[in-house]
Amino acid sequence: DALASQVAAGEVVERPAAVVRELLENSLDAGATHIEVHVQRGGTALIRIVDNGHGMSREDALMSLERHATSKIRTKEDLSAIHTFGFRGEALPSIASVSRFRLATREASAISGTEVEVQGGRLTDVRDYGGSHGTVIEARSLFYNVPARRKFLRTESTEFAHVEQQFRLHAIAHPSVAFTLVRDGAVTFHLPPTSDLLERIEGLCGRDLARRLLPLPTSTHPSIKVSGYIGGAAVSRPNRQMQITFLNGRPVESPTIAYALREGYHNAIMKGQYPVTLLFLEMAPESFDINVHPAKKEVRFHDGHAIREAVVEAVAQTINQATT
Ligand code: ADP
Ligand code: MG
Repeated sequence: DALASQVAAGEVVERPAAVVRELLENSLDAGATHIEVHVQRGGTALIRIVDNGHGMSREDALMSLERHATSKIRTKEDLSAIHTFGFRGEALPSIASVSRFRLATREASAISGTEVEVQGGRLTDVRDYGGSHGTVIEARSLFYNVPARRKFLRTESTEFAHVEQQFRLHAIAHPSVAFTLVRDGAVTFHLPPTSDLLERIEGLCGRDLARRLLPLPTSTHPSIKVSGYIGGAAVSRPNRQMQITFLNGRPVESPTIAYALREGYHNAIMKGQYPVTLLFLEMAPESFDINVHPAKKEVRFHDGHAIREAVVEAVAQTINQATT
């Protein structure tokens, strides 16, 4: 029923940034090489994602709006072996149940595409779509029908900051994909595709910051590959926004890593400063669990000690080299 589905939706989409994250992951899953993100009023008035991915047939488009219809989880074993970004099959139905929602999509080979409208979870229109191939998804007036949720939204600029962080995370994780962010009609970022991670970082954070980053050495641990860039004391921030960890290409959060960074940087930084750190970890999928709670992607490593050692070593070594 409508109420139950809105409550469930609240767990998947707690704020505009969560919508943006789910839609970005879907576009990346669809093999898009160009993704545009448009938001108005911090995403509370409008979120629109346009991609050039493989699109959907009419049947798939309608199915994607049915809760769990597309879930790739069939058995308990599946749960521990999730490899694609999306796996719950409930992001689109959840978003559609708490917004004025429009999906327009066309497969490259199709003569015509499909456009679907949903108002607060109710399918209101299905028609042909003549746009170019790929997918456009629009969520307007987020939580217009769930006042209790709407009350929890912060200011537009705070909501936008969270949206921007999701944009940043995915843009760094996928330099070869072109990303554009448009805020209230003005282009905030326009990032051409590149094979050079530093160039992508420069596009997001400016040349000054990118030039002062130090590459991490290739790690010697057999089961953990660590790479990335750190700013050291030269490029610190008063918040953690630019301390980002990617695990097998996905942004994740981890207390283990946070501690390891503090230890690795030890005396090199002042209190309350967070050196820019873009950490890329590659590990066998069996060696960690990702918390499936949708609000956060928190990772638990089976061998936290090894991770900690690898990260501390990489960071400390880089800092020592820079200061000697
Ligand atoms: P999940 O990603 O967990 O499968 P979602 O609700 O996020 O669930 O998406 C449902 C399905 O809709 C996806 O599995 C995919 O088949 C399809 N889909 C969603 N977004 C896109 C997109 N941008 N391009 C192509 N297919 C999409
Ligand atoms: Mg998804």
